[in-house]
Amino acid sequence: MHHFQYKGNDLFAEEVAIKEIVAKVGTPVYIYSQATLARHFKAMDEAFAAVPHTICYSVKANSNLAVLKTFINLGGGVDIVSGGELFRALKAGVDPQKVVYSGVGKKDDEIEYALNAGILMFNVESEQELDRINEVAGRIGKKAGIAIRVNPDVDPETHPYITTGLKKAKFGINIERALDQYKRAKAMPHLSIIGIDCHIGSQLTKVAPFVDTIKKLKRLITGLKEMGISIKYLDLGGGLGIQYNDELPPLPAEYGKAIVEETKELGLHLLFEPGRNLVGNAGILVGKCLFTKKGDEKNFVIVDAAMNDLARPSLYGSFHGVQAVNNCQSGTVIADIVGPICESGDFLAKDREIPAFTQGDLIAFMSAGAYGFTMSSNYNSRPRVAEVMVKGSQFEVVRARETVEELIKGETIPAFL
Ligand SMILES: *Cc1c(COP(=O)(O)O)cnc(C)c1O
Repeated sequence: MHHFQYKGNDLFAEEVAIKEIVAKVGTPVYIYSQATLARHFKAMDEAFAAVPHTICYSVKANSNLAVLKTFINLGGGVDIVSGGELFRALKAGVDPQKVVYSGVGKKDDEIEYALNAGILMFNVESEQELDRINEVAGRIGKKAGIAIRVNPDVDPETHPYITTGLKKAKFGINIERALDQYKRAKAMPHLSIIGIDCHIGSQLTKVAPFVDTIKKLKRLITGLKEMGISIKYLDLGGGLGIQYNDELPPLPAEYGKAIVEETKELGLHLLFEPGRNLVGNAGILVGKCLFTKKGDEKNFVIVDAAMNDLARPSLYGSFHGVQAVNNCQSGTVIADIVGPICESGDFLAKDREIPAFTQGDLIAFMSAGAYGFTMSSNYNSRPRVAEVMVKGSQFEVVRARETVEELIKGETIPAFL
C-alpha cells in the first residue's frame, strides 16, 4: 500500500499534486512519500513487537538523508555496506549502537572508521576479513563486535542476480565451515562475538526460505553453545519482497509471525535489514514524454528519464508500473518506453499496454523507491535527477538536481596537454 493515488484525473503524492511538484522542480524527478515510508517501517516493527528486535534499514536501497532520518526518528538502525553509507547514516543521526556493517570487501580505513564510530557489529563474510578486523581493532585499541555471515545454502527462489544465500554465491561463509571460524574468532583478542547473521536474497515472495534458513541456523547456534560461545543477536537480513506487478509477497505481519514462532525459544535479540520492503513502493520516478515514434514493428514513447536514472529494467528486466500523471489520454497503445541513452538496453517498460501518451505528458514509473536513485549514474553525462519528499500537504527537494558543472567536479586537463 502507498500514498500515490488519483484525485479526479490527477495523480497525487499524499496531498500534493505531482504536476505541482513538476512545475517547481522539473523532470525527471524522484518523489518519495513520507507517510508511506513511515507506514512500512511501522508494519515491520510491529510484526516483531513480541520479541526484542531492531530494524536496521538497508541503506543501499535508498540512501537519501531524509529517508534515513524518517526511519531513525521511528527508532530504526541501519545496515551499511561501505564507509560512505556509514557517513550518511551518522549525518542523519543514527545511534551507532544500531549499525551493522555487511559486505564482502571492507577496507582497512572503512573498518577503522566504523570502529571509531562505535558501531554494534561487523557481519564478517570471510576468514581473511576476520583476521583483518582483529588486526585493525588491535592497532587502534578497540574491541570489534562481530557476527559471522553464514551462507545457509537456501534457495530464495528469486532473480539469480539478487540471490545471495546459495553455495555458489560470493557472500558469507558456508554454514558447514562457520563453526571453525567462530572457534578462530573466539581466540582473537580484539573481537567480541555477539551474533550470527545471514541474508539470503532480495525480493523474496515466500516465507518458507526464511524459515528453512532459521532451522539451519539453529543447529549452528546449538553448536556454538557447545563450544561455550553464547550470542545475543540473530540478524536475519532483509529480502522481503514487494508488489511491483502481480507478485503476492507475504505481508510483514505474516513474515513476522513465522519468524517469531521459529525463533522465540532462542531468547535472542533479532535484527532485520529490510531495504526494498520499506522504500520500494514509497517512491516514484516521474518523467516527461519528449516524442512518440512509430517504428516498423513497434511503438516507442521517448521520455526524458533513462536507464542511468532507473537501472532496474535494463539490469534485471524488472517491471515498473506506468501511470499517467494526468489521466487525459484517449485509449491505450502497446509500446516500449525508452530513454535518450545510446544503448538498446535503455528502456523503462517493454511491450506494455500503456495510455496513448503524447508529447509533454508526464509519466510516473511506480515502485521506484528502492534501488532507483541509489543505482543511478551519470552515464551519457546526464546530471543526476532531483529527489523530493512529500509529507501531507508539504514537499521539499531533498536532493537538488545536479548541474552540468557538477558533472566535471574533480576533473582536470593535465598541464602536458
Ligand atoms: C541488499 C541487502 C539487504 C537489503 O535487501 P532487500 O532485499 O532490499 O531487503 C540487506 N542485507 C544485506 C547484507 C544486503 O546486501
